[in-house]
Amino acid sequence: MSIYLDNAATTCVCPEAAEAAVNAMRTVYGNPSSGHAAGREAKRLLDASRETVAAALGCTAREVYFTSCGTESDNWALVRGAERASHVGRHIISSAAEHEAVLKPLEYLAAHGFEVTLLKPRADGAIAPEDVAAALRADTCLVSLMMVNNETGAVTDIAAVAAALKAVGSKALLHTDAVQGFLHVPFAAAKLGADLISVSGHKIHAPKGVGALYISQGVRLNSYLMGGGQESGLRSGTEAMPQIAAFAAAVKAAQGSAEADLGRVARLRQAAAERLCAENPDVVIIGGGAPHILCFSLPGYRSEVIMNVLESKGIFVSKGSACKKGRRSHVLEAMGLPARVIDGAVRVSLSRFTTESDMDALCSAVGEARRTVRAALR
Ligand code: PLP
Repeated sequence: MSIYLDNAATTCVCPEAAEAAVNAMRTVYGNPSSGHAAGREAKRLLDASRETVAAALGCTAREVYFTSCGTESDNWALVRGAERASHVGRHIISSAAEHEAVLKPLEYLAAHGFEVTLLKPRADGAIAPEDVAAALRADTCLVSLMMVNNETGAVTDIAAVAAALKAVGSKALLHTDAVQGFLHVPFAAAKLGADLISVSGHKIHAPKGVGALYISQGVRLNSYLMGGGQESGLRSGTEAMPQIAAFAAAVKAAQGSAEADLGRVARLRQAAAERLCAENPDVVIIGGGAPHILCFSLPGYRSEVIMNVLESKGIFVSKGSACKKGRRSHVLEAMGLPARVIDGAVRVSLSRFTTESDMDALCSAVGEARRTVRAALR
């Protein structure tokens, strides 16, 4: 039996989502654009799915556009958002701790005449709203900051960033990558103050291949995928009904007991952090804030070694925070952490299916891994 603690990478598909996907593949399989009864039935399922996701986002259904993933939502928001607001100017504010799904479009925009300011996270891993305020200029057309960092779990106060923009009458569009925030950190799009919000299905127990972009009413983005005019003409391509229906089912399933689940997950995370600190005097807890992400480091012990020892015990975690293709984590580097801390970083990410015994097994295995590695080094 394995213990899966890499839920920030992806989650298992919950039974409700799997059932909804099968139903959309085998029973309600019409094309929502078709004029016959099978098409109308699929359209009803599409509309109901949009209503469900909109209710969870705290917005109207007209503001939700289904996409293929969080990456597509981010790319659309950034590229078309910058284009839309370019009459304001060509300055963009984001952060050095963003996911590549934001950093790569920013590179593209920089190569196409936009000037990009990347803010550094503070010691807690979050972006301080006052740093955004200080970087704002009259020609800032777009601000894009992630709600929850996927490596550290640090939470940036997007509502405070929106307030900072409003306070100076900024005309910049505000985008937040809420791929790790959606259903983990409570927010309502209508009150958040962001114009654009990206979310992804596979982080919340829906299958891979579905996401959504919230586009606030009144913000007119050009389409990113052009074709048959689906999604109110803004995102063409026949709707991926099995994934969309499953996304809505996963949202509904999560919402049933969301508050209790989030509280329980947060307590499991906190208890594990405390036990790791008590049993491993050298451990460093990095970031924090979101209930489901625990990033810690054992300085001097390489994260891949710890990860391999954990895997040998059937425990799956991530060294995603430590290096990608041999490079150090850009997020931990941006936080200014010492190389020894970065190289020993491990990310544990929980879901509502994580149990106390999973976390107990993790803590015991980390202690054992540390002792084994230390003995081998002597
Ligand atoms: N943004 C963040 C913060 C993420 O963690 C991820 C995925 O790990 C993405 C964007 C990309 O989402 P997707 O895998 O749905 O393309």
